[in-house]
Amino acid sequence: MARYEAVIGLEVHAQLGTESKIFCSCSTRFGDEPNSNVCPVCSGMPGVLPVLNEKVVEYAVKMGLAVDCRINGKSVFARKNYFYPDLPKGYQISQFEEPLCEHGRVVVEMEGGTKSFGITRIHMEEDAGKSIHSPAENVSYVDLNRTGVPLIEIVSEPDMRSPEDAVAYLKELRSILVYLGVCDGNMEEGSFRCDANVSIRPLGQEELGTRAELKNMNSFRHVQKALEYEIARQIDLLEDGEAVVQETRLYDADKGVTQPMRGKEEAHDYRYFPDPDLVPLVLDPAWVDKWRGELPELPGPRRGRFESRYGLPAYDAGVLTAEREVADYFEAAVAEYGEPKKISNWIMTDLLRQLSQTGLGASECAFGPKSLAGLVRMVDEGAISQKIAKDVFLELFETGGDPEAYVREKGLTQISDTSALEAAVDRVLSENPKEVEAFRAGKKKLMAFFVGQVMRKTKGQANPAVVNELLARRLG
Ligand code: ADP
Ligand code: MG
Ligand code: ZN
Repeated sequence: MARYEAVIGLEVHAQLGTESKIFCSCSTRFGDEPNSNVCPVCSGMPGVLPVLNEKVVEYAVKMGLAVDCRINGKSVFARKNYFYPDLPKGYQISQFEEPLCEHGRVVVEMEGGTKSFGITRIHMEEDAGKSIHSPAENVSYVDLNRTGVPLIEIVSEPDMRSPEDAVAYLKELRSILVYLGVCDGNMEEGSFRCDANVSIRPLGQEELGTRAELKNMNSFRHVQKALEYEIARQIDLLEDGEAVVQETRLYDADKGVTQPMRGKEEAHDYRYFPDPDLVPLVLDPAWVDKWRGELPELPGPRRGRFESRYGLPAYDAGVLTAEREVADYFEAAVAEYGEPKKISNWIMTDLLRQLSQTGLGASECAFGPKSLAGLVRMVDEGAISQKIAKDVFLELFETGGDPEAYVREKGLTQISDTSALEAAVDRVLSENPKEVEAFRAGKKKLMAFFVGQVMRKTKGQANPAVVNELLARRLG
């Protein structure tokens, strides 16, 4: 690979989370009865006119501002003409020559340092419907519920040089969209989809090689694997003296390979022209200012603030801020109790693991930030052991509830009282005379064994520091 370098540019389609479609008032709800959210406008009846949804413009502009784009005062909707059964109008309304946003960038924190990837453009467009093929019945169905659902397409410059770059860029982009509240970022349901353009060139060569466009990757892992496969495939071709063909290739996740789907269309194949049914979109600068004022703190700046304000390692700050809800949870817990590093450890291990196992978001979790703060405080105060705290966390994760009350009720308080523990220590020593003898003869490693036995007798409630001290005194 040393003699070649990969060049990657990404096209991302993000579904905007508006209530209604982009040019009509039909609902955008996912999972409804097929063809139940359809009207004459989105089903392409003649003689009806599209009306632009203002919320779509707001969401698209907010994304443009968040990635430092220039917001064009005037942009134009264009028809992209092609035939497909799920596209009843025979064209898709998109933007072509005059898009809404241009010249932005996404800054990504990578292991080797910060990288910046250019954004060429962001434009608004409508989604097409869905074809559902049923080989068993030998028929195909068309569901038009998705027809006219608003999308933004975010096109990057060919600035990435590895699958890792591409995935880091995508994760950051997704995180920004979700922070803004304009897209739910769900890759499996297709609200965040990515096509990857990839070519290779000999190291040092300026000119770009011929690219393939990869489709059908619905997780970050797929993107990584598809690009790895494709880069290796193209290098093999060149090494064998063959040429890369410009084409669209589908990723097959089961086989882990990309396969040709069709020759790549060129823009001129689509006969783009300005949509005569829609006037050019002219933005009042006051709107843009208002939307700019509504932007939340974005993941990049928030990551920096988590490092400087809470003294967290860069790794923790990155994990905690990737999702807005998780970052909010962290800040609420720290506001309650302080101890940011301890809170961070709990979130990064226990909380995130439980959230991913249950599929819940941090804000939906019944065990809220106040409860976590209370739990960490009890450990710090010596009221419960770390081990018991983990059990309480698991116990209360789904039901919620006050951990202090729970510990009191179940009698889980840590035993630090020397007289209460002495009995347990004595019993362990009298039950294990051989080990005691070996210990006195120099096998000091047995200390851990004795501590473990005492913990067992006390069901994990003994304060390990006190147990150690007592044992040392008895055995000394
Ligand atoms: P199209 O509209 O046909 O998909 P564009 O020219 O708009 O093509 O480019 C789409 C994406 O492909 C962009 O993200 C761009 O950065 C990327 N790209 C263009 N040429 C190359 C290349 N030779 N190698 C890798 N990526 C490329
Ligand atoms: Mg393309
Ligand atoms: Zn409609």
